[in-house]
Amino acid sequence: MDPHDIHSMLMVSRRRFLTMAGAGAFAAHWPERARVVAQQGASSALTVEAVMARVQDALGTSAPPNSIDGLKAGRLDAVVTGVGVTPIVTMEAIRRAAASRRNLLISFEPTFYARADAASPANRASDPVFAAKRALLDQHGIAVWRLHDRWLARTPDPMIDAFADALGWRTSQDANARHRVIIAPMTLSDLVARVQQRLGARALRVVGDPALRVSRIVLSPGPSAPAVTFGNLAAADVIIAGEPREWEGVEYTQDAIGAGGNKAMIIVGRLLSENAGMKAFADWLPTVLPQVPVEWLPVNDPYWRPAGAQTFSIVAPPSQPPAAPRQTVVTARQVVDRIKGSLAALNVAWRADTVDTFKAGDPDRPITGIATTFMATFDAIKRSVAAGANFVISHEPTFYNHLDTTTQFTDDATFKAKMAFIEEHHVVVFRFHDHWHAKRPDGMRVALIRALGWPDAPGTVTLPQTTLGALSAEIGDKLKVRAMRVVGDPNARVSRVSLGLGYGNPQLNDNVDVVVTGESQEADSAWDNASYVLDATAAGQPKGLILLGHEQSEARGMDECATWLRTIVTEVPITFIRAGEPFN
Ligand SMILES: [Zn+2]
Repeated sequence: MDPHDIHSMLMVSRRRFLTMAGAGAFAAHWPERARVVAQQGASSALTVEAVMARVQDALGTSAPPNSIDGLKAGRLDAVVTGVGVTPIVTMEAIRRAAASRRNLLISFEPTFYARADAASPANRASDPVFAAKRALLDQHGIAVWRLHDRWLARTPDPMIDAFADALGWRTSQDANARHRVIIAPMTLSDLVARVQQRLGARALRVVGDPALRVSRIVLSPGPSAPAVTFGNLAAADVIIAGEPREWEGVEYTQDAIGAGGNKAMIIVGRLLSENAGMKAFADWLPTVLPQVPVEWLPVNDPYWRPAGAQTFSIVAPPSQPPAAPRQTVVTARQVVDRIKGSLAALNVAWRADTVDTFKAGDPDRPITGIATTFMATFDAIKRSVAAGANFVISHEPTFYNHLDTTTQFTDDATFKAKMAFIEEHHVVVFRFHDHWHAKRPDGMRVALIRALGWPDAPGTVTLPQTTLGALSAEIGDKLKVRAMRVVGDPNARVSRVSLGLGYGNPQLNDNVDVVVTGESQEADSAWDNASYVLDATAAGQPKGLILLGHEQSEARGMDECATWLRTIVTEVPITFIRAGEPFN
């Protein structure tokens, strides 16, 4: 018996009476259930602290020094009446745990909408959803233990094996020790249908040709770090991922297709991809705590899609014939110097620390034309060259990471093919991100607001009252979004909209009904809007989150950028090339 057990025995002698008395009151309404709960409560006799110690010992893993694991709510000395296991502690999960008298929730993701549950925006303490959640936890004496790092540290990766299991497969290792799934060949669209059905997914996003035949699959549940895509796509036909970003793993997959590869990606969403791994934890837990009742609390797909969204066709880029070369010579560097000068005149000083730099090509060669685009994907570069423009001004990265570092790609076939094309056609790529956003008004916002037909105002836009369902359908129709995702009750009454661009996400709060933005992280971000919406809905204060996709939120702003550039560069034609929504 370890010291934790002695401690818990002492605690339980003091607390048992209370537990039994509580069970008695409960029995008045549900006698059968209450008897079971009382027996379980009496035999458990473990505190939260003792449960944590036992589980950590049994896992045998250690957490990194900056671990996000730990007790997020409740008391270490509370006697555990039962455990609920879930990927994320929503208000709904708390209510279910309370209804079955489980007072310890073990969660993989944050409970309070932020990295390490620690971010404390000024308004958090007074936020009604946050307050309602805290009150619910306090009312039922429920403790929350985030167990992320130590569960993830198990080998083999319990999240991947369980994810495979949930999809009806087993992983195997190839010669390079990659964990893959090999299935009998099927089309991508059949595979998508299987994933959708097995996981209960409502808003999958898919990159690739639906008719593609696939058999080699790499699974990447959770945040889907870009390295998973870079390292594995060559040895796979398709990656089934949790939450890769549009300018990282998604762009790489697009470029692997652009380089001639028969590749694809199915994006499930972070929480949905983590259900299986935490179900595996719930199945394992009784082997460590046989005396404690354990309940599995899955999370449903937080996203849905407005009806008809998938039927939108690809938005064709505006096609312009290659223009005849003009007389005056201008180089890419001269164009960028002119951009810097024009912005300086608008009180936007060029920053020393910026991602707005040349990414490829020789800036001092004369250029034939300029193409602005949301992201210099392989395909967008090819279409720029076809339109007669060899200077590509891209809002987002060219090489799959924020700083466009390429040292990790020197032997990568997709990278080499893209670079070879850039060199062969004397393409120069410049990123125009920080300073285009810094110009006032922000051209990205101007263009999106115009496409939506909304009145512009700084901060929150107030629209005539509507429902979340109607608003999302209207936006989908106006912007022709194929892979829009919505969180929240479709019948929620909404009017105050906060608009985000790309990955720059406003925070939902008491003064905002809906956030409309590009893409955002489901967990461990500065503010997790998706789980906030789930809780706001459960707390009777309906909110909404509408994710357009990163490209969909910023593409038009680069058309606006082309219009602005035409006022300062007249030597060569300037064309907007729509990179295009990456999802089918
Ligand atoms: Zn942006």
